[in-house]
Amino acid sequence: MKLIYTHENSFLVSNIKNIVENKGLSVFLKNEFAAGGSGDLAPLETWVELWIANDSDYDQAMSIIENFQKSGDKADWLCQSCGEENSGSFEFCWNCQNTCPE
Ligand SMILES: [Zn+2]
Repeated sequence: MKLIYTHENSFLVSNIKNIVENKGLSVFLKNEFAAGGSGDLAPLETWVELWIANDSDYDQAMSIIENFQKSGDKADWLCQSCGEENSGSFEFCWNCQNTCPE
């Protein structure tokens, strides 16, 4: 098992998880329920982590993530409805599902 991705925004991690899973790789989340939990934890420890189940899938998973991040060249955008910042690769606001203003 290897850690392949982590981010303070758990939605981003879930997004990556879906993409990697859609390629047929077996992944799982850690700390999924830690975020927003105990205030005793340092922020980094509450980040949701995406792990790959089979080490032999690691290289493929990393290239999938890399390709996804390259394809997300679009600039981050601010939701005009709720003001949340969204990755350029998102067509909808992660928070309120408002569409990208473009
Ligand atoms: Zn929004």
